[in-house]
Amino acid sequence: MLSQADSVLNDLHEARYYICHPDCMVECQLCPHYCRIKPGQTGRCLGRLNLGGKLYAASYGQLSSVALDPIEKKPLRRFFPGSTILSVGAYGCNLNCEFCQNWHIALKHVATEYYAPEELVDLAIAEKSNGNIGLAFTYNEPLITFEYVLDTCKLAKAAGLQTVLVTNGMINPDPMKELLPYVDAMNIDLKAFRPLFYHKICRGELEAVKRTIKLSVPVCHVEITTLLIPGLNDEDAEIEAAAKWIASIDRLIPYHLTRHHPAYRMLQPGPIALDRMDHLAAIARHHLSDVGLGNI
Ligand code: SF4
Repeated sequence: MLSQADSVLNDLHEARYYICHPDCMVECQLCPHYCRIKPGQTGRCLGRLNLGGKLYAASYGQLSSVALDPIEKKPLRRFFPGSTILSVGAYGCNLNCEFCQNWHIALKHVATEYYAPEELVDLAIAEKSNGNIGLAFTYNEPLITFEYVLDTCKLAKAAGLQTVLVTNGMINPDPMKELLPYVDAMNIDLKAFRPLFYHKICRGELEAVKRTIKLSVPVCHVEITTLLIPGLNDEDAEIEAAAKWIASIDRLIPYHLTRHHPAYRMLQPGPIALDRMDHLAAIARHHLSDVGLGNI
């Protein structure tokens, strides 16, 4: 088996969606951060590396986890219920949420093994005998490995597999539009419904996430998740506003209200009370026909 460093060098894939500046500086245009990256450095997501004035998809094919999961674990409630899906993750993320539930792979490099797109699709096909329906890109943020996800989803679709993304939705519209024809289902996080929460607690942009949701709903199956954190994003008015906005796109979109566990830099507050979750779900059900609770 190749080491991570060897395989990165052997399997360098030039990134898409970037422009060059003087002095070998590059600007990544994949997501709304528009990182300006010096030679030898990565963007804030860790997945895109400037080598000699060219931007490379450093995490292309570098998988830290490969597992056959129930589809409900993604979570997807209305997409092949009862099935399993081969789920893979790499490392890195373009958000930096203080409450990150997957910080051990989202915010630093971890040990990985290289899987070419063809190898991963072959593995997914082999797992069909165990009930596998396809491939899910999950655990860390898949969109920062845009080129790998695109290449693999194209092959997976050609092989008759279902393709799933579990994503924070922080991507620019052009790459999203390029990828969408090869994606069957997504769970998109709506981490809060206030721009300040995204800005201060996640270092992201609510408007970009809303734009991704609007772009995706007409093209593939979409479910939405809000991880509830007491005192930060669980006011009645905020959940009502989020549910109303989702319903303005389609009131049938499944909405997951899930319970967070203290993690990473946010060890307080503790998990939200179950009766409070029930109350918020009842509010959301005034606008949406399919609201469920998770992590309870
Ligand atoms: S995808 Fe990564 S490198 Fe590119 S702009 Fe976003 S955070 Fe920066």
